[in-house]
Amino acid sequence: MATLEIRDLHVSVDTENGTKEILKGVDLTVKQGETHAIMGPNGSGKSTLAYSLAGHPKYTITSGTVTLDGEDVLEMSVDERARAGVFLAMQYPVEVPGVSVSNFLRTSATAIRGEAPKLRTWVKEVKSAMEQLQMDPAFAERNVNEGFSGGEKKRHEILQLELLKPKIAILDETDSGLDVDALRQVSEGINRVRENGEVGTLLVTHYTRILRYIKPDYVHVFAGGRIVESGGAELADKLEAEGYESYTKGGASE
Ligand code: ADP
Ligand code: MG
Ligand code: MG
Repeated sequence: MATLEIRDLHVSVDTENGTKEILKGVDLTVKQGETHAIMGPNGSGKSTLAYSLAGHPKYTITSGTVTLDGEDVLEMSVDERARAGVFLAMQYPVEVPGVSVSNFLRTSATAIRGEAPKLRTWVKEVKSAMEQLQMDPAFAERNVNEGFSGGEKKRHEILQLELLKPKIAILDETDSGLDVDALRQVSEGINRVRENGEVGTLLVTHYTRILRYIKPDYVHVFAGGRIVESGGAELADKLEAEGYESYTKGGASE
């Protein structure tokens, strides 16, 4: 059973005004089969945590450790992390001009599985996953994220999630910009992946509404670059009612 362990993680970025520390000692353990919601105000460092775990070059780890089953994740390249089973659905997915969704998915699956999926079963797999996400088959021939609507981008992220079957899935604001129907379809996709109990999910979100569809095992409040409170699903209800104000007083959020 895969376990992601984050210990005292400190992360900085270079800005025009010098180096800025954004993550100030994050501790978190995510096991396969568990769902953790990371909730917090804008600017608290949630996306920085997601990018740091995925290996984005912009973020410098200044101290702390991240391991997956004891293996040092921070030593791995972005590709190695993906092959090890770490998946990131970005808050703002990037365009990949000239690469169709269909080719992108097959190339990713080949890289992660270590061999090309058999064409017949692969085509069926993709078709069925797309149907479940209510995606038009023609979508597969479009270039990745080029001209995609907000909802299409998020569906495409969940399509990747369903086909790539990671051990640890980091979903950054997958709910943002979705209307009610899209939110439900995307959430159902995430739940299908969770059902087999083989994925550990880090659900990063500002709003509690996605948690009506996806029940977290743990909720963590993120403020000022750290987890400041952890609890069960009931903590999300408290946040829904009270907001983040009590955590950000005294400038805790930045
Ligand atoms: P959240 O996802 O919780 O809204 P972010 O991780 O996006 O927070 O940002 C946390 C803080 O770090 C913000 O003050 C943001 O401006 C800053 N920050 C994040 N990424 C960068 C970057 N690449 N360059 C400069 N500042 C950054
Ligand atoms: Mg933000
Ligand atoms: Mg963010």
